[in-house]
Amino acid sequence: VQTFVPDEYALRWRTLTLLMGCFIAGYVAYIIILLTGWTFPLDLLIACVFLGGAVFVYGIIDLAQATIRKLHENAENLEKRIDERTQELVQANILLEKSQQNVHNKNIFLESVLEALTHPFYVIDIRNYKVVIHNAAAGFDGKKGETCHQLTHDSAEPCSGADHPCTIREIRKTGKPVILEHTHINKHGKNIYVEVHGYPIFDEHGELVQVIEYVQDITTKKISEQKLIRAKHEAEKANKAKNEFLANVSHEIRTPMNAILGMTDLALATELTPSQRSYLETVKGSSDLLLNLINDILDFSKIEAGKFQLDSRPFTVTKVISTIIPTMRHAAEEKGLTLNTHCQDGLCDRILMGDDLRLRQILNNLISNAIKFTDSGSIDVVCSCKEDSAGTMEVECTVHDTGIGIEKGYFEHIFESFSQVDTAISKNHGGTGLGLAISKLLVELMNGQIRVESEVNKGSAFIFTARFPIDDRPKDQEKKVGEEELVVKLQPMKILVVDDISANRDLVRMILEQDGHSIDEASSGVEALLKISENNYDVVLLDVQMPMMDGLETARHIRKCEREEADLSLASPYIETLEKVHSRYKGQHLPLVALTARATSDDRAKCFDAGVDAYLSKPFRKEEIIWGVHQAMQNN
Ligand code: ADP
Repeated sequence: VQTFVPDEYALRWRTLTLLMGCFIAGYVAYIIILLTGWTFPLDLLIACVFLGGAVFVYGIIDLAQATIRKLHENAENLEKRIDERTQELVQANILLEKSQQNVHNKNIFLESVLEALTHPFYVIDIRNYKVVIHNAAAGFDGKKGETCHQLTHDSAEPCSGADHPCTIREIRKTGKPVILEHTHINKHGKNIYVEVHGYPIFDEHGELVQVIEYVQDITTKKISEQKLIRAKHEAEKANKAKNEFLANVSHEIRTPMNAILGMTDLALATELTPSQRSYLETVKGSSDLLLNLINDILDFSKIEAGKFQLDSRPFTVTKVISTIIPTMRHAAEEKGLTLNTHCQDGLCDRILMGDDLRLRQILNNLISNAIKFTDSGSIDVVCSCKEDSAGTMEVECTVHDTGIGIEKGYFEHIFESFSQVDTAISKNHGGTGLGLAISKLLVELMNGQIRVESEVNKGSAFIFTARFPIDDRPKDQEKKVGEEELVVKLQPMKILVVDDISANRDLVRMILEQDGHSIDEASSGVEALLKISENNYDVVLLDVQMPMMDGLETARHIRKCEREEADLSLASPYIETLEKVHSRYKGQHLPLVALTARATSDDRAKCFDAGVDAYLSKPFRKEEIIWGVHQAMQNN
């Protein structure tokens, strides 16, 4: 009853059930009355039975009718709902078909796009490296294998290493797209350089499942890159060769210049007629200019070739300024200009470690330019020092003039090599356009910067900075700084001068003979050994660059022969000479002074390694030779 009877009739069905219960109870009561013989008004009983029965039957009929009606109604509703649902399903089906068509169309579109791509495109399953989709440009059809490494470069193993990085591995590291360079075998079987663009594909849980690779052939680009690199290397090599050539040529010129300058000095020190003196002074002036020019070219080519090294020795800024100013003041006064200097007290007197000669060279360049390009007024040189927390001193120098000035457009340009603002003006003033270029390179080597501020016809200010470590060693070492020590007096000695160029030998001989020394000459290392084997010398001046046996080899032979137990057994064509040197100088120390036109710290180190006691770079002044000999004697 409960299953079929609609809810709203449930109460009525329950009432009827109750009534039926009453009817059965009345019937039972009637049977009890009959059995017990109890007298009960029969009319009333019959009336009760009939009334109860009638109500019950009516109730049943009515309820059955209502229930059937309701069931009918429900059945109708159900049908209606089934119809509606069917309609909905039909609609959904239509939509599904449409979207399936859409997907199909999209697939066709994507396939056409892939096929239209001229670049290889493929999708890799990362679990097994198998290519699951690829376009025709990939050229995989007909190739052996199914994995990306088999198909792209015929390898049994996945890519690895820096040369052939694996796209999947790289994407796994970051989860992001990558671009890598590889080599592939193209569809014609040729090796090509490629750029692989890899894109990750993740599943709904964010797990990497596939990788898309899109490949660009960069062979042409790569080959032209390689050609460019080769061309760059060759250009660098050519430039290096040019610089080395320049360095060698300048060095070769410095050697005869040594004789020209030295001899001119010697001649100027003798009695001369006024015109002879004037000729010789012109020779000296021009030689100085030529030497400066050669030095500039040598410096520039060395710095450019990366072969330039700054020296490091104690110096003070005040001292540097005070040594340059007297000569510069003389040149300025000759043009009617005043030269003022101002050095910040205190800090500029601190001892710094660095290449004071090169600092002097920068200041020389700037001050001589200032004098050159100023016709009236003054030149001011201002230096200041600033100490930083790292124990470094920043030196800032400004050279200010009231000269012709420089147009703004040339500010950068003038620091380039061989550049001059106005070649006509510069021709009048002389110069090569190298001074500022060298100054800039030197300043940069000293961890500084150089710049110019200028106004045409008002003047220019060249400002540069340089950084030097502060020397905190005890003060007495300061004495070694400067040139006073060059002035020494020597007792007359027996000296051997070794140089392959006779003019240079003559020069040294004349200088030393002036001081009463007795001089022997040798034109080669072998001849020097021979002379040494036959004479007792107090000191030997040894040119470094000589053909056959150079000065360094000669020095090494001499030092070996001086050892008590010298091993001279090595087959040497000079064995007899060496044995004689050994017996004469065994256990002694013959002072050796190296003379060289190469002036780098590297050359100097080579000389000391070979066993020389002092080192002089050409061209040298008389005092420098004497000082060099004195230094070598000190070692004895
Ligand atoms: P140069 O040997 O020609 O002087 P530099 O490199 O020293 O070579 O200078 C390059 C050019 O910069 C000069 O030729 C000149 O035109 C300009 N210049 C340098 N210093 C000054 C200055 N103080 N005043 C005006 N022009 C200058």
